[in-house]
Amino acid sequence: MLDCAIIGGGPAGLTAGLYTTRGGLKNVTLFEMGMPGGQITKSSEIENYPGFFDSTKTGLEFMDTWTKQCFNFGLKHEMKKVVSVNKTGDHFTVRLDGGETVEAKTAIVCTGAVPRRAEFKGEDEFYGKGVSTCATCDGFFYKDKPVTVLGGGDTALEEAFFLSNICSDVYVVHRRDEFRAAPPTLDRAIRKENIHFLTDSAIEECYGDAMGLSGVDIRNLKTDEVTHMDNTGLFVFVGQDVKNDVLKNENGDFICDMSDLDQVIVDLKMHTSIEGLFVAGDLRIDAPKQVVSAAGDGSIAALQVISYLQELA
Ligand code: FAD
Ligand code: NAP
Repeated sequence: MLDCAIIGGGPAGLTAGLYTTRGGLKNVTLFEMGMPGGQITKSSEIENYPGFFDSTKTGLEFMDTWTKQCFNFGLKHEMKKVVSVNKTGDHFTVRLDGGETVEAKTAIVCTGAVPRRAEFKGEDEFYGKGVSTCATCDGFFYKDKPVTVLGGGDTALEEAFFLSNICSDVYVVHRRDEFRAAPPTLDRAIRKENIHFLTDSAIEECYGDAMGLSGVDIRNLKTDEVTHMDNTGLFVFVGQDVKNDVLKNENGDFICDMSDLDQVIVDLKMHTSIEGLFVAGDLRIDAPKQVVSAAGDGSIAALQVISYLQELA
């Protein structure tokens, strides 16, 4: 039986792995369905992680050293998708995709979030063929070409800025005339002369052919006027969905207390309503959705796991 099963290998899960193993636990496995690193690996830059001050590095490069450090103290990694985590008696049963189960004395769930779809016509059809949620990954395909960015949050405006250094023009489409993005991020985008703002607007439809996306129709929500853009790249940054599925039991109910937004309710020590079950990072209530806070949560959960196991012994 594992001392601790960590589900999700983003900043929260990796940090929980570092602290549990460096804190003396011998039998800890991180279950991550992809490569460890989490959502930040989709970012073109990170400039608000204290102690790290290199704006030339992408999120993927930034997380590379985390992965090396966090696996340095005996943390094991299984590249598996977890289907569910349930408490059975005094331990947890972690069910993996394919049916295999693993037992653990404690669990830290850090499954984070995934990019949300905006649900306009053509989005699914051209996803990966012109519609993207990753400027770092796909921006270079549109070198010296115009692209459209949808959204008005930090992600949309940071990625619009990144794209403006590669693409000829960046058209930011946002459904309101006020932005969620932090003021410095918005100011920087406004100052960039090849970033153009289309506010009070929505993507009506995107279309193309077997070769990929060729155009986007944008509707002004106040005038109803539709503008056609001959674009080959459409970047959608409209928020994320919390990944809470692993905490559902067979009848679809959550095994622990959740908020109205389906985020996990935890206390300041990352305890959920189930003893021995901890949640860290973007999955929890009131998460600031920052790498630094996800990492902080992961360290708190790990220290609590160590105390909990010491009390059991
Ligand atoms: P995540 O990073 O979401 O990691 C969750 C992990 O769990 C993923 O790797 C996923 O594959 C895995 N997983 C999910 N479900 C399962 C399952 N069933 N089985 C196994 N594995 C599973 N924050 C900043 O502080 N500064 C920034 O500059 C910044 N820029 C950002 C730019 C972008 C484009 C995005 C999308 C986010 C940005 N953020 C930034 C926010 C930051 O990335 C997140 O707050 C942080 O990554 C959350 O960490 P986490 O560990 O909680 O979750
Ligand atoms: P977000 O803050 O939720 O912003 C999503 C944006 O998309 C909003 O402007 C929203 O419009 C718009 N939107 C939502 N659904 C839409 C739809 N169906 N059609 C069109 N537009 C839609 O998401 P985010 O930008 O991904 O950021 C997520 C979190 O990560 C935030 O807490 C953010 O601060 C954090 N983050 C931080 C940094 C950083 O600190 N440097 C960088 C990136 C992300 P409305 O405004 O009208 O709702």
